[in-house]
Amino acid sequence: MLEYAQRIRSLPPYLFAQIDQKKREKLAQGVDLIDLGVGDPDLPTPTPIVEAMKRAVEKPEHHRYPSYEGMLSFRQAVADWYKRRFGVELDPALEVVTLIGSKEGIAHFPLAFIDPGDVVLCPDPAYPVYKIGTLFAGGEPYILPLKEENAFLPDFRKVPQDVLKRAKIIWINYPNNPTSATADEAFYRELIDWAREHSIIVASDLAYSEVYFGDKKPMSILQIEGAKEVAIEFHSLSKTFNMTGWRLGMAVGNKNLIAGLGKVKTNVDSGQFQAIQEAGITALKLPEEELHKIRDVYGERRRVMVEALDRVGLEVFKSDATFYLWVKVPKGYSSASFVSMLLDECGIVCTPGNGFGEHGEGYFRISLTVPTSRLLEAVDRIGSLKL
Ligand SMILES: *Cc1c(COP(=O)(O)O)cnc(C)c1O
Repeated sequence: MLEYAQRIRSLPPYLFAQIDQKKREKLAQGVDLIDLGVGDPDLPTPTPIVEAMKRAVEKPEHHRYPSYEGMLSFRQAVADWYKRRFGVELDPALEVVTLIGSKEGIAHFPLAFIDPGDVVLCPDPAYPVYKIGTLFAGGEPYILPLKEENAFLPDFRKVPQDVLKRAKIIWINYPNNPTSATADEAFYRELIDWAREHSIIVASDLAYSEVYFGDKKPMSILQIEGAKEVAIEFHSLSKTFNMTGWRLGMAVGNKNLIAGLGKVKTNVDSGQFQAIQEAGITALKLPEEELHKIRDVYGERRRVMVEALDRVGLEVFKSDATFYLWVKVPKGYSSASFVSMLLDECGIVCTPGNGFGEHGEGYFRISLTVPTSRLLEAVDRIGSLKL
């Protein structure tokens, strides 16, 4: 009676439960916690976007059901942005679909292409939705470990033949959450060649393409010749424009893949509120300076924190993208025990690496998403650690 379905019962255990419990205890004791655990920008949405929303919400035509695939004007703005940012041409009517945040699309996508017994190649450590979406669709996740010696890129050529025969989708995510790793053109080119050879769908999650600090901008997989035959890319306004709460994203790429996702969406949701999409158009047309301002804040925080971690002898994976730091736990600790110690000794909350999958064990993740003054306080506290 009232039992959960198998798909819920078979969900992997929630690895943050222990740390969440401990966090509650500390808060109850009145500890001044600094939470470096959440990947949610603390900076506000840029004013022009908020102002556009205020105007849009007044329009009665936006108060009705939107279309599941999104307003053509928003999809056109996505196509224009892809052209300007990546030099990629997209047909807004067929190669772009609006999402209610990219998580929605990532979770729904396997329902369109995965039958029971099909394999989905999922990186580990990773954003958990790739694996969960696979399980919900009845598919089998096959783990591709992301290892430091491979710069946290998956070695897809190592997938055994029998698995490869059943594999239909491979998920990738660069710049990467949680490792902060980036991928270069050679990686994407090899991946696309391999995927075309084996008829595997490449699903690229590009949520962090605009959170970079070096001269080299992260690229879109669609810049690779032939990518549109096999690739779909998931993107979002969440991290780029500090809009996580607005729930606005998009999928772009191969038109059959977009149509397949669209078939799921027509049957599950009724699209995103048009006023939000209209504000999204303003976001995608913002002058680049707005993004420079955001990058400067994260860039400075990254520099300050990396320096502090270096001083106490903690080893950070060197990267110039994302607002995450992926740090090795010192000898004698596990991810869980080190994160627990940080909470006890410093009142700092971080995310244990194994929460992103078994191959995250031995690491922890720091999010640079607290005001800089708090981050400096965290730096002080870490500085006093005797490791
Ligand atoms: C934040 C995040 C997303 C999803 O963001 P939405 O707000 O749902 O658009 C997707 N992938 C990764 C890796 C993320 O970190």
